Amino acid sequence: MTSYITRNYEALEERRMTDIFEGFKKKKDYLVCIDSDGCAMDTMDIKHISCFGPCLIYIWELEKWKDQVQKRWNEINLYTMSRGINRFKGLEATLREVDTRYKKIDGLEELTTWVNTAEELSNNSLKEYMEGRRNQILQMALEWSERVNRQVEMLPKKAKMPFPGVEKGLQAIHQAADVAIVSSANQQAIIEEWKEYGLLEYTDIVLSQDAGSKSYCIKRLLTYGYEKEQVLMIGDAPGDWEAANSNGILYYPILVKKEMNSWSRILDEGLDKFLIGSYKGTYQKQRIEEFEENLT
Ligand SMILES: [Mg+2]
Repeated sequence: MTSYITRNYEALEERRMTDIFEGFKKKKDYLVCIDSDGCAMDTMDIKHISCFGPCLIYIWELEKWKDQVQKRWNEINLYTMSRGINRFKGLEATLREVDTRYKKIDGLEELTTWVNTAEELSNNSLKEYMEGRRNQILQMALEWSERVNRQVEMLPKKAKMPFPGVEKGLQAIHQAADVAIVSSANQQAIIEEWKEYGLLEYTDIVLSQDAGSKSYCIKRLLTYGYEKEQVLMIGDAPGDWEAANSNGILYYPILVKKEMNSWSRILDEGLDKFLIGSYKGTYQKQRIEEFEENLT
């Protein structure tokens, strides 16, 4: 059964790849993959602080503990090694703490089971899973997730800006390397946000959640003939690092709350090291140590 599901999933990824990668050509020897949310675009804090957290407090009626719940939501999703975790995993972890500390959460085990066993954690997969089932907590989780999406859409444009230094950094990177956006956000949202600030012109391909996982996208990009040591992933979350690591490419972290410094640093020293081949080793090790320290 498992292998059947895996085979189908691969076939699906193949199909996605053919469409999205169509027209992409390797132009340079170097490739830089860049994550969007929380890396190039300053969108993570606002989404979590004004949308994810408040919707959770609203749906589960946690107003009485709203400061504590929001604080833990932020820590889990933004400021520790679980930064960038899937929203449903973040939800389950937060509700588990709420259940222990503040208020009994009915049906929590059912949410845990779905989160730990589902092939995909998304609104669509949750809807499919609920077909023919009546389940209150899963229904609430879906309502929460859809409410979050609506609120994110309603955020004003100026709440979704790039970090200072991104344009300058991208400009320099794009002169030397092909640039791929590798993100698990929605394709349309990425294109709109990057276009709005004139950043799209410094990119060669946009790989979003529809293109497959970040690790899968990097794997496909490597098939265009880049040397692994000439491919760099820039990201802000442990998941970005894992995607880079699993493909044997280099990683440069954008540090949360120090994003501007991180972008000026890649411009001042990281990019040169990458281009002359001295990035790997001590320099990368130091960056990753800082990254881990910053998230603990
Ligand atoms: Mg990110």
